[in-house]
Amino acid sequence: MNKNIVVVGSSNTDMIIKMSRIPKPGETVIGGEFSIAPGGKGANQAVSAARAGGNVVFIARVGEDMFGEQSVRGFVQDGINTENIIRDKKAPSGVALIFVDREGENSIAVASGANANLSPADIDASRDVIASASIILMQLEIPIETVKAVVEIAREHEAKVILNPAPAQPLGVDILRHISIITPNESEAELLTGIKVEDEQDAEEAANVFLAKGIQAVLITLGARGVYVADSDFKGIIPGFSVQAEDTTAAGDVFNGVLAVLLAENKSLIDAVRFSNAAAALSATKLGAQTSAPYCEEIEKFIKTF
Ligand code: ADP
Repeated sequence: MNKNIVVVGSSNTDMIIKMSRIPKPGETVIGGEFSIAPGGKGANQAVSAARAGGNVVFIARVGEDMFGEQSVRGFVQDGINTENIIRDKKAPSGVALIFVDREGENSIAVASGANANLSPADIDASRDVIASASIILMQLEIPIETVKAVVEIAREHEAKVILNPAPAQPLGVDILRHISIITPNESEAELLTGIKVEDEQDAEEAANVFLAKGIQAVLITLGARGVYVADSDFKGIIPGFSVQAEDTTAAGDVFNGVLAVLLAENKSLIDAVRFSNAAAALSATKLGAQTSAPYCEEIEKFIKTF
């Protein structure tokens, strides 16, 4: 079987209304501008990995409705293997309703729908795909028992797991000690370690907490500043690429998806982080989540301009 990048995670449809101001409870505000876009951290990362040249299998659940159909059609267009995406007969596809005001401030309501039904039994049904993966990439928008079930299979087969612990929630050592690479942003690192990450020294301290739990490599993403990297060979910041940022939505998702590709290609961690920083910076120059995920050639061209 071909060595794949297996992404296990959420797929949502984002429904966005840009308006002068976010309505208060009980209030109706007219005059907004509507758009619809594919989202969900799992899907964003799967698409980012596929566009960067990865051989991607996406394991997820969507509803038997037009949103699910539309999402899966998008994955197929991006060359993602969708055979392990389950159509949920009972729950609707995941949806995020997003209000964005004039200042760019937002208010988001998520109905996880089918994402919340992605179960350990579903993971068991995809056992062979997970066991033969070269890299497994997960986030925390699916039930934690499901994340645990994936980690268990990865452990049995010594497959590498990248965990992007977003949205942040406390994690037991039973999960953490089997993670190869963890990729929190500053606030997720704080929630998981109790250390407020403001400078490089804080990042090192937070990274040490993860390393002490048995994780092999810690990548704390620091927005425009880049990424703090800590493993057994290296400790320090790999700087970001300076760009005129338009929309940093999903910059973290692009970073994770591209990272999985480079590591599946056996690139060094440092080279992989640098390339992923470039991809994420490039995505920050464009509006949207999946729509802003760059293709491999674009990333290579962008790096050459520095
Ligand atoms: P998240 O989006 O998950 O909160 P970060 O904000 O840390 O995560 O961004 C993830 C990565 O995206 C960063 O490590 C960096 O490589 C890149 N990035 C984010 N914002 C910018 C920016 N304004 N300019 C350049 N690169 C950025």
